[in-house]
Amino acid sequence: MIQSRFFIPTTKMVITDDVVCKSLSLMLKAGMIKQVAAGIYSYLPLANIILDKIAQITREEMNNINSYELKMPILQPQEIWEKTGRWQKYGPELMRLKDRHERGFCLQPTSEEIITLIIKDHVKSWRSLPLSLFQVQTKFRDEARPRFGLMRGREFIMKDAYSFHSNTDDLDKHYREMEKAYENIFKRCGLKTIKVNADNGAIGGSESIEFMSISEIGEDTLVYCNKCNYQANLETAVAKYDVFNKGNEKIEDLTLLDTPNMTSIADLANYFKINPHRTAKYITYIDDANDNYYLVVIPGNYDINETKLLNLVNAQTLRLLTDEEIAEQGLVKGYIGAVNFEAKNDFIIVADDVIVNLLNHTAGANELDKHYIYVNYGRDYQADFVGDIKEVHENDKCPICKNKLSFDKGIEVGQIFKLGTVYTEALHCTYLDQNQKEQFMHMGCYGIGISRILMAIMENRASDDNKSIIFPKELQPFDVHLLVVDTKKEEQLKLANDLYNSLKLNGIDVLFDDRHERIGSKFADSDLIGINIRIIVGKKANDNMVELVKRDSNEKIEINSNEIITYLKDLFK
Ligand code: ATP
Ligand code: MG
Repeated sequence: MIQSRFFIPTTKMVITDDVVCKSLSLMLKAGMIKQVAAGIYSYLPLANIILDKIAQITREEMNNINSYELKMPILQPQEIWEKTGRWQKYGPELMRLKDRHERGFCLQPTSEEIITLIIKDHVKSWRSLPLSLFQVQTKFRDEARPRFGLMRGREFIMKDAYSFHSNTDDLDKHYREMEKAYENIFKRCGLKTIKVNADNGAIGGSESIEFMSISEIGEDTLVYCNKCNYQANLETAVAKYDVFNKGNEKIEDLTLLDTPNMTSIADLANYFKINPHRTAKYITYIDDANDNYYLVVIPGNYDINETKLLNLVNAQTLRLLTDEEIAEQGLVKGYIGAVNFEAKNDFIIVADDVIVNLLNHTAGANELDKHYIYVNYGRDYQADFVGDIKEVHENDKCPICKNKLSFDKGIEVGQIFKLGTVYTEALHCTYLDQNQKEQFMHMGCYGIGISRILMAIMENRASDDNKSIIFPKELQPFDVHLLVVDTKKEEQLKLANDLYNSLKLNGIDVLFDDRHERIGSKFADSDLIGINIRIIVGKKANDNMVELVKRDSNEKIEINSNEIITYLKDLFK
């Protein structure tokens, strides 16, 4: 490729304000992407080349486990999405539109519906299973906060695979193959990832693993134990909790006390000279889908993990009641408690599993400026649901080995799910088993963010001054960057041209910087373009000598241009 004819619009502009991460700033400087709207980008040639390489690695690893490529439409009819209930459930992230006949459509955020309908129509017998198919396709999600360039886009590239099985063992087997394939993909992309158990979220199903790249700008919190190998996303992380009862503690009589202006846990703990973990915190929620009201109680020193809460009560979305709604219910903000609880609507009571064992705790009395002390679960109130709904704290005890838990920030680059029969039941996707009996297929789905991987790689590999990068071996945009120091010197230009032609002839992918620019600025651009091997044709061109630089090891050698091909072939072997 001749650089003067290629399009890599590097810029020395200071990248400001809205650019808040290294990778995005570097991408813009390197002329890789161009923003069109929030979360929507054009991929310019350099990014396009690398994205294709990531996709190609993904394809190879999918093919290795007998998963094969197809392409499904981006534009998908509303009625198909209604069959699984996802038209409603997906919420505002689903990009919706209407055709000229006012028929509803969406732009695919994933494609479980379409793939299941394809399989339903064409696969009838156990003999045709398992089947695993994937696509590398543009996805759309109207993210609430698109940010960090391709990291959280509203339009992005995802590889999504779907597998269909006649039984759960077979699904398990393919799920493990996918796990391994994902590890290979990340390894080949030079991206270190860790695996965490994850929540299945809106997609439904039974088991899921997320692949995370550790990074300061990650939006997920990873919880892990340094001693055993416990790893989880904060959304699902659990810990071993102590119940802070005193030795030989007796159940005391429920007592009402005046607590003027004490609406926070800190106020209460201070006033009663108790540790916050001896208090209870009450929070009210509503599920707008069915107007179910919830009163949730957890230890005063913890926050609610809403994912755990949703799973426990089997709800899709919950939101906090507003101050007005609390008042409308006849409740007193800051003094809510489960004892003598009365409200306009019925409330479902949800209690954390630590609080139900905490003797003599303190709670609001549903009256202004009053609290109960010596509240005890069972005697003073009951709950409809009891379970672990706490958000784990750093340094809580590991659920397996009780060592202290640590936190890190991570970027989710891939996720695999065992879906079971959620979609196949909704869409009636069945097969006939060996006894000619109709059965639902078991399904898995497996996503990987092709464009997000590129961002994560750049975030990890940007130099400290954020002016240069070296892409990983398999993602090198070109094998070699060939530069001429002074294009006005005929002998330099001629030698460079000769080298360019012979590199090409020998199947070596070369980017030839033939531009009439100062060498300093060519080097600066080359640093941004990320090729590891640099060949510089300069002063010794008359002697056929050039300089070859391996940027990753900072090794520089002088070499006769006649020997270059053999040298490189050896190097790339
Ligand atoms: P997140 O929690 O980051 O929103 P997700 O769990 O909703 O992601 P999945 O549905 O599991 O995402 O999608 C599979 C993969 O697609 C993710 O692991 C991620 O790499 C990528 N991905 C998801 N959303 C985006 C996005 N908005 N921009 C870029 N890549 C994305
Ligand atoms: Mg995910």
